[in-house]
Amino acid sequence: MWNEKLTAPGNAEDATIAEAVHRTAAGAPDQAPAQPFARATPVTAPSSAAVAELREAILAKLAYAIGKTPQTARERDWFAATALALRDRIVDACRAGAGQVPNKRVYYLSLEFLIGRLLSDAMNNLGLVETTRAALRDLGIELDSVEGAEPDAALGNGGLGRLAACFIESMASLSIPAIGYGIRYDHGLFRQSLEDGWQKEAPETWLAEGNPWEFVRPEATYTIGFGGHVTMQSVSEGVIRRQWHPAETVRAVAHDVPVVGWRGRHVNTLRLWKAEAETPVELARFNGGDHVGAVAARARVEAISRVLYPSDSSEAGQELRLRQEYFFTSASLQDLVRRHVGERGDLRSLPDHAAIQLNDTHPAIAVPELMRLLIDDHGLTWEDAWHVTTNTLGYTNHTLLPEALETWSVDLMERVLPRHMQIIYLINWMHLEEQGRHGRANAAQLASVSLIEEANGKRVRMGHLAFLGARRVNGVSALHTDLMRSTVFKDLHALDTDKIVNKTNGITFRRWLHNCNPELTRLAVETVGEGVLDRPELLTGLADHAADAGFQARYRAMRRARKEALAKVVAERTGIAVDPESLFDVQIKRIHEYKRQLLNVIETVALYQAIKAEPNRDWTPRVKIFGGKAAPSYVQAKLIIKLACDVARVANDDPDVAGRLKVVFLPNYSVSLAEAIIPAADLSEQISTAGMEASGTGNMKLALNGALTIGTLDGANIEIRDHVGPDNIFIFGLDAAGVQARMDEPDYAKAAIAASPRLAAALDLIGSGGFSPDDPNRFRPIVDSLVHEDRYLLTADFDDYWRAQRAVDAAWNDPAAWWRKAILNTARMAWFSSDRSMREYAEEIWRVRVA
Ligand SMILES: *Cc1c(COP(=O)(O)O)cnc(C)c1O
Repeated sequence: MWNEKLTAPGNAEDATIAEAVHRTAAGAPDQAPAQPFARATPVTAPSSAAVAELREAILAKLAYAIGKTPQTARERDWFAATALALRDRIVDACRAGAGQVPNKRVYYLSLEFLIGRLLSDAMNNLGLVETTRAALRDLGIELDSVEGAEPDAALGNGGLGRLAACFIESMASLSIPAIGYGIRYDHGLFRQSLEDGWQKEAPETWLAEGNPWEFVRPEATYTIGFGGHVTMQSVSEGVIRRQWHPAETVRAVAHDVPVVGWRGRHVNTLRLWKAEAETPVELARFNGGDHVGAVAARARVEAISRVLYPSDSSEAGQELRLRQEYFFTSASLQDLVRRHVGERGDLRSLPDHAAIQLNDTHPAIAVPELMRLLIDDHGLTWEDAWHVTTNTLGYTNHTLLPEALETWSVDLMERVLPRHMQIIYLINWMHLEEQGRHGRANAAQLASVSLIEEANGKRVRMGHLAFLGARRVNGVSALHTDLMRSTVFKDLHALDTDKIVNKTNGITFRRWLHNCNPELTRLAVETVGEGVLDRPELLTGLADHAADAGFQARYRAMRRARKEALAKVVAERTGIAVDPESLFDVQIKRIHEYKRQLLNVIETVALYQAIKAEPNRDWTPRVKIFGGKAAPSYVQAKLIIKLACDVARVANDDPDVAGRLKVVFLPNYSVSLAEAIIPAADLSEQISTAGMEASGTGNMKLALNGALTIGTLDGANIEIRDHVGPDNIFIFGLDAAGVQARMDEPDYAKAAIAASPRLAAALDLIGSGGFSPDDPNRFRPIVDSLVHEDRYLLTADFDDYWRAQRAVDAAWNDPAAWWRKAILNTARMAWFSSDRSMREYAEEIWRVRVA
């Protein structure tokens, strides 16, 4: 039975986890794997036999894989032993699912996977949370501390990387056969500390003590070339073959992390590539005494997977970045091409059996790379290769901000990827020719759809390249997709109006509800039944209880417990005492001007001034909580962090506002910290300039957990409003069209400041050193940038934001109404599950069946 399901021979090198497990299982007795996940709910009491079995498994791992005794084991050792024991269960679940070659696989290429910790995911999806807790408790160990010993896998910057992590978990949960491809960075996103309010970056070291989740697959190694030249050779009458001779080569070595889906039904693979030198050390040089020079070449190539670029929504114009992008794209395509050839033989059937999704333009080089592999290495004609490429690739756009649209200079491309540049030129030539044939040859039109931008030196537009090479191109919220059609991709869209589709982002409820908020999950299960764990739409049933005083009390108790836990974290990390009775007002996300943390800080200053002016009014006690990292080179964003910290210091020390306003900047925002903050949030700040946030996913996590949103009509906020209802969200400010119109008005910022005494007073205090007496001019650049340019329309939206915040105050003072709104948010957010997103991609983009 196992044997007939074996994949084609010759395919052994690129075994993914399912394939490898299956192969080992071929010789094993044909027995069904243990069913460790009979009932996966946070309330199930585990059987004592299951607990004993897992306890012994953990002890065995501790002894034989870690080499420790319970007496000498540290928390980190217990974590590794527990992870290894659970990994065995995942392998068992995999055995259950391994077998047939799936008809079609999804390949999700992403330069970033912002995963966080995996232990709670694995336990929860295997239905083993309580079993593991009991097994460890038998050994005198607390599960919470073991979970705390796992470092975050922070292989991403923010929303884009977190989306990829949610998607691979959802694909596994929906049993969509998929492989995620990315880079195994030695150092993920930097660790942020605050020194006197200034951001300091330190390298992050998640791999310092190994990674118990991964399987190294040295047999799945590919050679990646850079530089060199291209030769032409006539192979037969009229057929010329081009061959690339790279000057430099690097090995890409696969490291597989199993991704187990809900109830352990399906396991997928996240395959991360590590760069290794062909020659670890130049022995002759080493023996000649040049110990450093002997490893210099190695250091250069291995730099490719050394660190994650800490750039978020802005171009990282570095050669190393291009090398990273090509490195992981080429390795992934070589891997999937080899798998296809092994399983099916003919590459012309690739579109029937593979769907390759490009998460943003970082892997857009896949277009010419797939063409090169098909034509140069596998002998397809240009026409066949183009057909295969454009029916296999999909491209997800994540931003329309001009500074974030990736382009590479033609000079650099010719130097690093000469063969790809030839292919890009040919694609572009054929594309522009076709425009001519359709009578669209006017110079402006051609310039706008060309792959080469010529405004300031020739540059390749990676978004355009991905657009042409893909069968479907998607935006990530309804508004963003509309803006794609009407702005950046307007002329390309006109050529093929079916190509752009919308796929609104989602979040995995397993992590962002079940794992991070077990109290709310239990409340939901007890109220609407256990089916809610499988079918989030059952959350709607909570709406029937939204006005019920008893239910509200339980919901409030959940929030109260979470706020007390967060208050502890705040005290530990910042020394600031916050009162869980206060409204917790949260803005957590990358620090970026378009996200407008500055608007929130200025409103905080205005509130501080208002409280000082009238201390005896019935102010709603608030704690403003900020979290987020700034790109290390982003000077203005770092200054905004400093401002938030300086405002915090002054406000928190001022007895006039004590008990009414506290300000906290929690350092080192991460997935794990998000999991602690989100269930404790009362108010979710989603205040980007309309038209600039493609979707947002933080907005979804917070609303699902019952925080009310204060936000602009931007990204997915619009769809959140449509779902939760306009009475249960605080919307303010200009919409995207209003923003465009306002930007065309001359001196709009000066006019807005002149019209708002409150805004003017807050800016005065900031600009004159009210929060920086040690350096009164410190924040002049911030105030000046608002007066002179205000690219993000803070001044335009300030008064309406203030109004909306006071509406929040009023709502908080009517608890029965507030908690009704909160419960309705939880009840109506089901649509934002990433399972829904993945079903839509599967159906309309990938054309794969979902069970
Ligand atoms: C969800 C998430 C993000 C994205 O947040 P946005 O508010 O959508 O920008 C960024 N970082 C982490 C750690 C997250 O969990």
